[in-house]
Amino acid sequence: MTFASLGIAAPVLRAVQDLGYSTPTAIQTQSIPAAIEGRDLLGCAQTGTGKTAAFAIPIIHRLIGKHRPVAAGSARRGQERDRSGSVRGLVLAPTRELAAQINDCFKRYGKHSGLKSTVIFGGVNQNPQTRDLQRGVDIIVATPGRLLDLIAQGFVDLRRIETFVLDEADHMLDMGFLPDVRRIIAKLPQQRQTLMFSATMPAEIAALSKQILIDPVRIQIDPQRPAAERVEQSLYHVAQKTKPALLAHLLRSRPADSTIVFTRTKHGANAVVRKLEAIGIRAEAIHGNKSQSARQRALDAFKSGELKVLIATDIAARGIDISGIGQVINFDLPQVAETYVHRIGRTGRAGRSGMATSFCGPHEGELLEAIERLLRKRIPAGRDQPPATVLSEADRQAEREARQAEDGRRGSGRGGRSTRTGQAGGASANASRKRPEHMRAKKAKTPSKASLVEAMLIRKGRAKPKPKPSHFVDPSPCLQP
Ligand code: AMP
Repeated sequence: MTFASLGIAAPVLRAVQDLGYSTPTAIQTQSIPAAIEGRDLLGCAQTGTGKTAAFAIPIIHRLIGKHRPVAAGSARRGQERDRSGSVRGLVLAPTRELAAQINDCFKRYGKHSGLKSTVIFGGVNQNPQTRDLQRGVDIIVATPGRLLDLIAQGFVDLRRIETFVLDEADHMLDMGFLPDVRRIIAKLPQQRQTLMFSATMPAEIAALSKQILIDPVRIQIDPQRPAAERVEQSLYHVAQKTKPALLAHLLRSRPADSTIVFTRTKHGANAVVRKLEAIGIRAEAIHGNKSQSARQRALDAFKSGELKVLIATDIAARGIDISGIGQVINFDLPQVAETYVHRIGRTGRAGRSGMATSFCGPHEGELLEAIERLLRKRIPAGRDQPPATVLSEADRQAEREARQAEDGRRGSGRGGRSTRTGQAGGASANASRKRPEHMRAKKAKTPSKASLVEAMLIRKGRAKPKPKPSHFVDPSPCLQP
């Protein structure tokens, strides 16, 4: 199969050839001919499958077909375009980064078409966006909130939209954007083509698809398993405070080109950056509290290879296409098991092998179980054994115990089967509940009167705090540059 055989217009074909794409991906082969014909589409696919081109190419093809392409920037082109903010292609995406990335794709695939696209998202000054709109654009890629703002201010008119794309619909739902999406859909003409993409199909999204799609072509691209199969995964059971030292050790010992480290919170991402920078490892974070320009700067540096370590929260990293990542490190396990698959799918793309290492802290046992249930396999223990300055014998013992406890839980508590050979899979019901002591969640205790008095004396400098016994080697030796 070639792009030429998909019947796409010459200017798009030339752009694809310029990019060095030799064959269309599975989703492109299935979606491009149908979308060119004007059919609605429902695509179950995630980023990394080539889905952006799967909708961007037919949109550009159709718009070229109806409107003679004119060199971008020529006076005539400006006159031809309706300056009221009326556009013909609209793509909605859940995050700013994804929207910017999709717009980049439209620019690349449409570079010989003479069509103009722009991106609209919040968190930045709206003036450059409204200036673009006033000059006239053919395609808008937008996040829902800012688009609604600009519609309300009269900068955007959706009444002439010919093709509407709803990308990452399940993430729109997760992020609470569905009401905004519905408001936008209500402003679109009834007579239009709709292409909807979603990696998963929760009930709300399935219901929405029934409302907005007419007799769609359904495309399912092997949703989640491939990444899990092609990526070399490993796991370390570690105490929360050992995680930075282990991370530093892995970053130093693995000659990977680039690494994404996932943390659960924005605060956690900042803390990891600080700890790495303190020992001379350059890292930058992307998360919702960073300004759009700071996020974009970090992403650009990472994409260009200038920045090797990017610390990200899931929301900030969602849908971003960064290719050639050597490894993914889950500093914290994700709250939702499917997110694990999305995270590790960022390495090992396009047939390359990748590495994903996860740290499971004392309170993350349940999350690990959910992930392993989804994968239907155990994540093997990390083979790269860090030195004692990073993982103490107590850590290792804790890890062995955690593994045994998990095996026991599977073997007895839930009627499951131990997938590990040579381990105490069928351990007693007691063992099934037992986690190593330091890994058990501490119950909140009401402090005794004596301890409150002691704490007060320490605060006032009249008593010294007692040294706490620790199972762990102080990670600081490893953190020395
Ligand atoms: P996407 O799933 O749209 O985020 O695309 C993932 C990556 O695959 C992007 O870097 C695209 O540039 C690249 N890509 C898309 N289509 C093709 C193709 N037919 N051949 C090679 N690379 C492609």
